Amino acid sequence: MSSAKIIDGKACAQRLLIGVKADVERLKADGIAPTLAVILVGADPASQVYVRNKILRAQECGIRSLEYRLAADSGQTELLALISRLNADSEVNGILLQLPLPAHMEEPMALQAIAPGKDVDGFHSENVGGLSQGRAVLTPCTPSGCLHLLEQVCGDLSGKHAVVIGRSNIVGKPMAALLLQAHCSVTVLHSRSVGAQALCRQADIVVAAVGRPRLIDAEWLKPGAVVIDVGINRVEQDGRTQLVGDVDFASALPQVSAITPVPGGVGPMTIAFLMKNTLTAAVQQAHAQRSPSEAVCLSTY
Ligand code: NAP
Repeated sequence: MSSAKIIDGKACAQRLLIGVKADVERLKADGIAPTLAVILVGADPASQVYVRNKILRAQECGIRSLEYRLAADSGQTELLALISRLNADSEVNGILLQLPLPAHMEEPMALQAIAPGKDVDGFHSENVGGLSQGRAVLTPCTPSGCLHLLEQVCGDLSGKHAVVIGRSNIVGKPMAALLLQAHCSVTVLHSRSVGAQALCRQADIVVAAVGRPRLIDAEWLKPGAVVIDVGINRVEQDGRTQLVGDVDFASALPQVSAITPVPGGVGPMTIAFLMKNTLTAAVQQAHAQRSPSEAVCLSTY
C-alpha cells in the first residue's frame, strides 16, 4: 500500500478563492468592483467549458465578469479593436483571451495587444520579462498554481532539483522561471532532450507539462519525488472519453511522496490564480488612480 499523498488541488483552490472573495468584498466596500473581461473567439467545445468555469468562479468570488464572444471567422482587426476598447475601459481590470484562437488569427499579436496591467494571464512580453527578472506582478496562472501546491507540500523549495518537462510559453518556461526564483536548481526537458528519463529520475520535483497521455511512469521518477501533473489529455477508454494527465498515475503513485491527480489537481488552481490576478490587477489600477492619502489601504490586499 502506497503512503504517497494525493495533492488535493480542488481543496487548495477553494481556500484561495475564499481569501479572494473576502478581499473582493473589502474592495467593494471601498468603491472598487474588480471586473474581468473574458473573450472567446469561435466555439471550440473545450474552450467553452473553460470560459464557463472561469465566469462561474468569478461570480462565486464576487468578481464582475463580462463575456465577449466573437464568431470563429472574425478578423484579427475585430479582435484587436475589442481588446483596445477593453484596455481603455477603466471599469475593466483584467482581460482574458481564451486560447487557442482560430488558426487564421495571430495569437502572439493578440496577446501583446492586451495592456500589461490588465494581462491577468501574464503572457504579455512586459510581464514575461518581469518574471524572468523576478519583479513580475501578474504571473501566468497555471505555473503560479503549481508553485503554490509545491510550497504547500514541500515548504521551502530552496536547493531542490526540479525538472520541468515541456518548454511552452504558457506553462513550461514560466514554471522554470518561478522555480528558479524559489531557489530550485532547474532542468527543462523538451522533445529534443537526450536522456530525458534519466535526467528526470534525478529530480526531487517533477512538473509534467507535455500533452502526452501517461508518458511519465515510475521509471522516470526518483523514489520520494513530488510530482505535479499539468497535462490534460482526452483519451478513449472503455468506450468513453476520459481525462488523463501526462503522468501514469497508477504507476507513479507507489514511487512518489506526493502527486496531483487529473482531474482535481492543477486545473482548479489555474482558475484560482486567475481570480487572484484579477484582484491584484484591480488593486494595482486603484493604486495608480488614487492618492496615498485616500482612505483605501490597498497594501493589505
Ligand atoms: P505545448 O505547447 O504543446 O508544449 C508541450 C511541450 O512538451 C513542448 O515544449 C514539447 O517540446 C514538450 N514535449 C513533447 N513531447 C515530449 C517528450 N516526448 N519528451 C519531452 N518533452 C516533450 O503544451 P502546453 O500548452 O505547455 O500544455 C501541456 C499540457 O498541459 C497539455 O496537456 C495541456 O492541455 C495542459 N495544460 C493544462 C493546464 C491546466 O490548467 N491544468 C493549463 C495549460 C495547459 P518542444 O518544445 O521541443 O516541442
